[in-house]
Amino acid sequence: MTTNNTYPTRQALQQFDTPYYYYDTELLRQTLAAIKAETASHNNYFVHYAVKANANPKLLKIIKEAGFGIDCVSGGEIQAALDAGFPAESIMFAGVGKADWEIELGLDAGICCFNIESVPEMEIINEIAVRKGKTANVCLRINPNVEAHTHANIMTGLSENKFGIAMTDMIDVIKRIEQLEQIHFLGLHFHIGSQILKMDDFLRLCDRINELQDYLEENGYKAEIIDVGGGLGVDYDAPEENPIPAFNAYFDVYRKNLKLREGQQLHFELGRAVVAQCGSLITKVLFVKENGNKKFVIVDAGMTELIRPALYGAHHKIVNLTSTETAETYDVVGPICESSDVFDKDIPLAKTKRGDLIAIKTAGAYGETMASCYNCRKLPNGYTTEDIMSV
Ligand SMILES: *Cc1c(COP(=O)(O)O)cnc(C)c1O
Repeated sequence: MTTNNTYPTRQALQQFDTPYYYYDTELLRQTLAAIKAETASHNNYFVHYAVKANANPKLLKIIKEAGFGIDCVSGGEIQAALDAGFPAESIMFAGVGKADWEIELGLDAGICCFNIESVPEMEIINEIAVRKGKTANVCLRINPNVEAHTHANIMTGLSENKFGIAMTDMIDVIKRIEQLEQIHFLGLHFHIGSQILKMDDFLRLCDRINELQDYLEENGYKAEIIDVGGGLGVDYDAPEENPIPAFNAYFDVYRKNLKLREGQQLHFELGRAVVAQCGSLITKVLFVKENGNKKFVIVDAGMTELIRPALYGAHHKIVNLTSTETAETYDVVGPICESSDVFDKDIPLAKTKRGDLIAIKTAGAYGETMASCYNCRKLPNGYTTEDIMSV
């Protein structure tokens, strides 16, 4: 069984100044093991952790030790990956706007692959590679025009989104690559969105990739690797019941529907599904106030620590770790001077008072990495189970 239902004792949690992130490393290890169990028997499957979900060095170390590769979307992330000890050959570098210094860093480090999104980008990578006397492996990020059933702000695979190269341009772009001396065409890359819970969306991606591979081969080209991106969602409503995402169903879609060619590698880039459930934002109640018939719990964390509710209208399960009294209905809000600084409205919470510790669950992905200093606040610390035990 997993440990996600349990938190360290109140005394242990109170050692640190709030707000902070608490990471259950046992659950992270179990999650990594669950992914390994699905992929271990396929020696052509490679999973790259998408570091933008959480770049905490303590988590990166655990993920690296479990043998995962890494997916980066910036030079800073490449540096974080290298600092955490990920081999350069395990780094995929995506992103619609790569700066020259980021391309140089990738080439100097000798990363596995640049996932490229436009012809001008490819030409600049070639120019820099020629100057350095290096060769850049590239995958073309193809926009497969597959709709992912998720929030519009995290849907990336429709032709109206800014990401990728249109399917109809694919062959022309590969022909252009052939003219670029220091670019090697490695394969095709896709990423249709995030927090996807309908396996049918991934199924449609498989169908589209199958069509594209046929089309590629009709034109005399072959992909050495297919990279299907990430996007598997997690259960924000019932993290206790589903602490580990549906990896079996997810990998099954690809195993059963994607027609890989002889010797072809299949790469995945999972972010949220790896780290979301192991993280909680721990915050302290500053005040409980009543306005008319509303009760507000005002906590010391805000959208500066966890922006997802304000940015996407995301829901996170919220629990009071220090009260066992009968539940009442509250709005849980932060201290930031923005009306959208609300974690949730009209939710049941054990009767709450000043000083209580609150956990905002499933906050391990796109939490700490999206924190800001707005209102001149300090960035939150992240502590693991080991940190808490060792104090
Ligand atoms: C964000 C991102 C991912 C990871 O997405 P998740 O939904 O967190 O799994 C993978 N690949 C690319 C290119 C991304 O931008």
